Parts: sequence; structure tokens; C-alpha cells
Amino acid sequence: MKIGVDLGGTNTVVGLCTDEGALLCKQGTPTRTGDPDGLRADMRRLALAVCAEKGVAPDEVCQVGIGVPGSFIKRTCTLTFGTNLQMDDVSFAQAFQPEFNCPVYLDNDANCAALGEYIGGAGRGVRNMVMVTLGTGLGGGLILDGKLYTGANDIAGEIGHMVVHYNGLPCNCGRRGCWEAYSSATGMVRLAEAALARGGDSLLRGMKAENGGRLMAKMVCDARDAGDSLADGVFRQYVEYFACGLNNMIAILQPEKIVVGGGLAGYGEKLMSPVRALIRRGLMKADCEQAELVLAELGNDAGIIGAAMLAR
Ligand SMILES: [Zn+2]
Repeated sequence: MKIGVDLGGTNTVVGLCTDEGALLCKQGTPTRTGDPDGLRADMRRLALAVCAEKGVAPDEVCQVGIGVPGSFIKRTCTLTFGTNLQMDDVSFAQAFQPEFNCPVYLDNDANCAALGEYIGGAGRGVRNMVMVTLGTGLGGGLILDGKLYTGANDIAGEIGHMVVHYNGLPCNCGRRGCWEAYSSATGMVRLAEAALARGGDSLLRGMKAENGGRLMAKMVCDARDAGDSLADGVFRQYVEYFACGLNNMIAILQPEKIVVGGGLAGYGEKLMSPVRALIRRGLMKADCEQAELVLAELGNDAGIIGAAMLAR
């Protein structure tokens, strides 16, 4: 048995998985931000609870994995910088002692989601897969030749910080023109705000006002569905940037599958099909097998399963 922990800024969810990565059960609690001892205690308590739920003894668990938001040192299982958790330099190596006397692994949440989709979701059965998560940021993970790729220093796979527009919009990372600045949900909102600022009628003005002046990516999708031409223009611009980054990934890696998850993936085929059309146009070589663009299947469970399946 293996245990996976999805440590999020809002919730901490712990799941019990088989050695093959099938999720048997999960339990969660609101994350105790800013309280490392409390957080470690919650994680241990939930790990014991999922074992009890399935009648599994803690010593039958061979490893625990944690997906964390932020930067970390794998070797010491330490979260070095966790903005969303309001805590830095927290080690989880002993968090499950004394009941779970097994190795504890750690990786970033986006990599765990990629590994989870690869093992039990939309990426099953291929050797090379790119996961793209469209949320507040644009996260991702690379599965190359059947393994999670983390580079020489454990921090590879930050696909959201590939530049798609030289000297373009500023990004949270300090650079400009990153894919994340355009193709995250936040990026879509940004494109919409810019379009509204240029003037013109749009349902988005009313939606934004009703939401206390705050525009959301879903509103752009909803307005487009209602026939709003400004929202449609924003969406098309968004799709161009999204496809641009995907084409870069394809040119470098030529994966069998690209799996798209995160909040914006909820727009489903209405997002995927125009993106697929642009990818086809951008191909370098049309006469060989091409990357397939698919929606993620596991939702939030991907991060739990991937965390459980982490390996040294
Ligand atoms: Zn960036």
C-alpha cells in the first residue's frame, strides 16, 4: 500500500492507494496554513484514518508521497518556500512517525498531477506525456520514457515559464511574456480586461459588475457561449497563445499525449477543438504520428495518486 498527500493552500487531502496506484479512499481537512506542527499532525492523523477505513495496518504502507505547492529539497523532504501555506523550511521526513516507518517522498503538486494522470488517468499506456494544468497559474509536468522528468536539480518541468511573447506581459516569476501570463485562467482574464479597456459592448461588463468588479475566466467562456463577440475575440486570442506554447512543447518533446487539466479544462471540447486545429497547422512534419490532445480524467485525485507513486 502507498499513501499520497495533496497538500494545497486550501485543503490537505490524504489518500490510500494500492501499489499499482489505484485510489482506495481519501480524507481531507482544511490546510492549517502558517502552522507546521499542526499541518504535520493533520497529515499523520489522516494517514492513520484512511488506513483504518480500509483495515490496513500502518506497517503495510511502503511509502508516503507529498505533493507540495512551492519549492523544496527532495533529499531532506523539506518545503523551503511555500507561499500559499505561509510557511518556509518545513521538513516532512518525520511527519508520519512513529506509526509509518517508511520513506517519505516529495515533489511539486503539478508533477504529482502529471504522474497521477500518467498512471491512472488520461495518459495511461503511453511512454511520453506532457500535462498542462490551466489554473491561476499554468503548471505542468513531463513524463519522458515512462518516468517523471525533474532534471538535474529536481526543478524541471516549469513549462508555464516558457516565453511565448518576447518582452510581453510581466509574469509572477519576474520575466516577461511567459506562457503562464497568457494561457492561465488569470491570463485569459488579463486578455479580457485589455479588450474591455479598448472599449466596445460586451456582456462581460455586466458580469464583472455583478461579481463586485472581478472578472473570471469562466465569465469569458459563458459570454462567448451567449454569442458575445468581444468574449469570442478574447477566447480566440487565448487559444492562439495556448496553441503556441503547445506547439513549442511538441517540437521539443514529441509526446504521444498532451493532457490538459485545471479549471479552464472544464470548458471541455469547446476549448480543445480549436486548439487542436491550430496545433495541426503548426506541425513541423505532417506525415508521422502526432501528439494527441486530451482532457485530464482524474481531477483533484491525480495529485494524490501521483504523490503516492513518487519514486526516488
Ligand atoms: Zn514566468
